[in-house]
Amino acid sequence: MSGSDSELTGLSLREAGAGIAARALSSRDLVEAALARIAATDGRVGAFLEVTAERARAQAAQADQRAARGERRSELDGVPVAVKDLFATKGVPTTAGSRILEGWKPPYDATVVERLEDAGAVVVGKLNMDEFAMGSSNENSAYKPCANPYDLSRTPGGSSGGSAAAVAARQVHGSLGTDTGGSIRLPASFCGVVGLKPTYGRVSRYGVVAFASSLDQVGPLARTVEDVALLLGKIAGHDPRDMTSSARPVDDYLAALEEGARGLRVGVPREWFQGGVDAGVERSVRAALAVYERLGAKLVEISLPHTKYGIAAYYLIAPAEASSNLARYDGVRFGLRAEAKGLREMYAETRERGFGAEPKRRIMLGTYALSAGYYDAYYLRAQKVRTLVRRDFDEAFRVCDVIAGPVSPTVAFPLGARTQDPLQMYLGDVFTITCNLAALPGLSVPCGLHGESGMPVGLQLVGRPFDEATLLRAARALEREVGAPSPPSLREGAEVRGQAPSPPSLREGAA
Ligand code: GLN
Repeated sequence: MSGSDSELTGLSLREAGAGIAARALSSRDLVEAALARIAATDGRVGAFLEVTAERARAQAAQADQRAARGERRSELDGVPVAVKDLFATKGVPTTAGSRILEGWKPPYDATVVERLEDAGAVVVGKLNMDEFAMGSSNENSAYKPCANPYDLSRTPGGSSGGSAAAVAARQVHGSLGTDTGGSIRLPASFCGVVGLKPTYGRVSRYGVVAFASSLDQVGPLARTVEDVALLLGKIAGHDPRDMTSSARPVDDYLAALEEGARGLRVGVPREWFQGGVDAGVERSVRAALAVYERLGAKLVEISLPHTKYGIAAYYLIAPAEASSNLARYDGVRFGLRAEAKGLREMYAETRERGFGAEPKRRIMLGTYALSAGYYDAYYLRAQKVRTLVRRDFDEAFRVCDVIAGPVSPTVAFPLGARTQDPLQMYLGDVFTITCNLAALPGLSVPCGLHGESGMPVGLQLVGRPFDEATLLRAARALEREVGAPSPPSLREGAEVRGQAPSPPSLREGAA
């Protein structure tokens, strides 16, 4: 890659857009630089499941024509981005990281993809992820592993692993992911980028493959807080095609971005610092809290006593909803269809071969939890816990404006470290899950490097419903002091370790 290409790929989304507006850069150059960067690095990173080079080049040409006419759709016009492979893209394969959707080309675009393209952004491809967004390490992808650009032997986090890795590796200037229990915030923290899960209902989910419908939310990832604010402003807002999307007007997320942290009351939950948090992670997070104090914010100790029940409640509710949502993949309407004698056998074979181990585990757990006789004992009880979790936050927000703590108890762990132990994998979600259960906005912003490993650490900020503006303002205040991690070296010779499951053979009679 030439020097000028790396200068282009290193620009923030805002800078790239401004360059096009000033006619100092062309969308074509930016898109070619992104494609070259992907070609040069993705063999090692594994962030992309599909690169839509021709479509991107055509869109870049249109963006450049608009720029030549002095027309501009938005600050994003002409800038290369990419989206998690959970978003429907018209005529472009959309797999949700699963073999069962292999070959499916949706006849329409997800609303968020449409909105990005209406704003002029150029979608250059579809990003790797855990199958159906189930996972915390991207290792449940049915297609290939994805590596952390800061250490290719470690996970980028999941389930939006490709969305974070592509941004960290300077392949694109911004991306979209989804977050059901932490899937934007966790990979953002592991890869040293900024990631925001908006309030439930803030962003349309029309055209997003459903995992757990009462928890799923779409959000942006980028290298700066400002870029995340920009992206959120483009995708947020009511969509008549998603009845769960809110009619509330969308705030101007850039307006208060630079207002600093003075006067902000930052809640520090006791339960987020008790046992299990890696000492180096805790050090970085506490250093960030000290920065807030220095900037004139007030730290307030708070309690979220039901945090410890979050994982149990989430791992009932999410699989229960998943078991229902995944019932539609039967070999008739989408993707994979196994050959079999009768209709029932075809359903069974398709699902047996098309789903990987994790979706199968969740379908079984969820179906069990929803069965007659168990519903009250499990699902209903989990919903009651959910109410208690929400009340914890309501209480806390009486005395603070944002809540701050770790995103995850650890930094990015080695590929393979948790694949044999699903419970261990689930436990890593302890700090991100309650935010989804309570439908609140949450983000991860880099707060330094971990002493021993040198890996990025993310600070989690959780806000009041629909108060993304305050979260972004608080994140920006920290970013101004701490800065972002320097670009990863992605040294040649380093290999992506870890194995994706081999594809099913689909031969008749194969086990
Ligand atoms: N790690 C969690 C899970 O496996 C969260 C995933 C997500 O947010 N999509 O369910």
